[in-house]
Amino acid sequence: MIDLKNVSFSYDNGQNTIHAIKNMTLHIDDGEFVFVVGASGAGKSSLLKVLLRENVADEGEVTVNGFDLTHIKRRKLPQFRRSIGVVFQDFRLIPNMTVYDNIAFSLRVTDASARFIRSRVPYTLELVGLTNKAKNYPAELSGGEQQRVALARALANDPSLLIADEPTGNVDPEMSLEIIELFRHINLSGTTVLVVTHQHDLVRYFGGRTISIEAGHIVFDGLLEGEGVQHAGQ
Ligand code: ADP
Repeated sequence: MIDLKNVSFSYDNGQNTIHAIKNMTLHIDDGEFVFVVGASGAGKSSLLKVLLRENVADEGEVTVNGFDLTHIKRRKLPQFRRSIGVVFQDFRLIPNMTVYDNIAFSLRVTDASARFIRSRVPYTLELVGLTNKAKNYPAELSGGEQQRVALARALANDPSLLIADEPTGNVDPEMSLEIIELFRHINLSGTTVLVVTHQHDLVRYFGGRTISIEAGHIVFDGLLEGEGVQHAGQ
């Protein structure tokens, strides 16, 4: 769940103040699938950083997964961050670890038990269709496969919210559709999914709730029909 009320965020580099997010109000319920679109510089990354509490809002209220990010205690931050899975455009896999170990490592740092890791890693690899690549290294995989590993890693903690920042930016067009299909599949099991993209063709194809950002403002928040897929109730 995401709830922003009149949120503003600025960068201050000494001489200039850049207002990246301006008085933004937004609510995303548990279980929704939402695209966030906007041109370069619109404020998409700044918004994601506010949601992950890498940026602290200057004004307004930010609540994510029940955590009040305006007042959250530092010792609660790890618990908050574990409730979110994040996928980046550039995958961010560890090159000298196998696919299996990339996912296992992300669990080990959260003090997960060895027993849990042994059952969870194969499960997430199966979810993204990469069981047969468990022993490979990232460099031996295509861009689309690497992104699926990154997705498996993001899902390892069973987060209630999955945030993807330009997840198809480094994969070919056909694989882009498969990646978004995978996100939609994961969303069907109840995970809230937020996908940031500047690829309007993807949004046109899939449709669904789409939030468009321009110069730090939400200029559109509504349901698009989608040319390629049917949505519930259509
Ligand atoms: P997007 O992700 O949509 O491309 P950003 O959130 O990165 O947009 O940027 C929003 C605005 O904030 C832009 O004007 C950008 O130049 C500015 N900005 C982003 N990051 C910084 C930073 N670290 N310091 C100063 N200004 C920044």
